[in-house]
This record gives sequence, C-alpha cells and structure tokens, in this order.
Amino acid sequence: MTKREVEECRLQYFKSLYFATSTVLPLTSSPDIVKWDDKEKGEFSTKEMYLSIDDSGVRNDFFKEIWKMKIPLKIKIFLWLLSKRRLLTRMALSARGWDGDKSCVYCGTNESVDHLFFRCTQHRNLWDWFLNQFQIRRPRDLEELL
Ligand SMILES: [Zn+2]
Repeated sequence: MTKREVEECRLQYFKSLYFATSTVLPLTSSPDIVKWDDKEKGEFSTKEMYLSIDDSGVRNDFFKEIWKMKIPLKIKIFLWLLSKRRLLTRMALSARGWDGDKSCVYCGTNESVDHLFFRCTQHRNLWDWFLNQFQIRRPRDLEELL
C-alpha cells in the first residue's frame, strides 16, 4: 500500500467517523461543555492532573509521610517501588523476558516482593532484626504495611 493510499484510507476513516458522530442524538438539550474529570469546579489544574495520574487520585497518607521524611531519596524511591510491587525481583525480571533462575538464593522459592519481604524465613529474620531496632512490628503483608 502506498503512502497516498494510506492517507486516502485515513481520510475515509475520519469521514465515516465524523458522519457517525454527527448523527448521534444528544442526551440532554444543554450544550456540551469541556470539564476536567468529575471535580466540582471542573477546571483544569496541574495539581488535579498530578493527583489523577498518581494512584488515580487516591491519596496515600503512608507515602505522604514517607516523602516528607529526612531519609535518602533512594530509600524513598525504593519504598515507592515496593508499594507498587515494581521492584526488580527475579520473578519481575522473568516477566520481562529474563531467562535466569527465578528462585530465591536462600530457600529456592520463586523470588517475588511478597516472598522477599514477608514469606522467606531467611529474609524475615533480617527484617525482624531491622524492624526491632526501631521497635516496629513486622507487617503480615504489603497491604498491611501500606
Ligand atoms: Zn527465600
């Protein structure tokens, strides 16, 4: 197919799309308006846009506190990646096409976020020691942590 033929196909597609949308009956008699999301004012703001792309507008108080803490940025980012289950565990790497061994080096179970932080007995001992230093009880799972 030549470039001209592709352009002609696109033009025909847009003509048919325009025809289809121009014959749709309006749901109300009031004119259409442009409105940002379902907010009361409906006005666009960068803050509203940020909130909508960050956790789909749902505020997470846990991370609000984490971002304020005076800890290294890499730790904040690590915790954020953990919360999103985006840490590059062996299972996550495997899902991206990596063909290495997916098993935990300590126990042989598939290495996932849940395994590393909550299931593996070897890692649990390390986390328990670390959390005890701050007198923090170890959460059962990631949902309880967040
Ligand atoms: Zn393990």
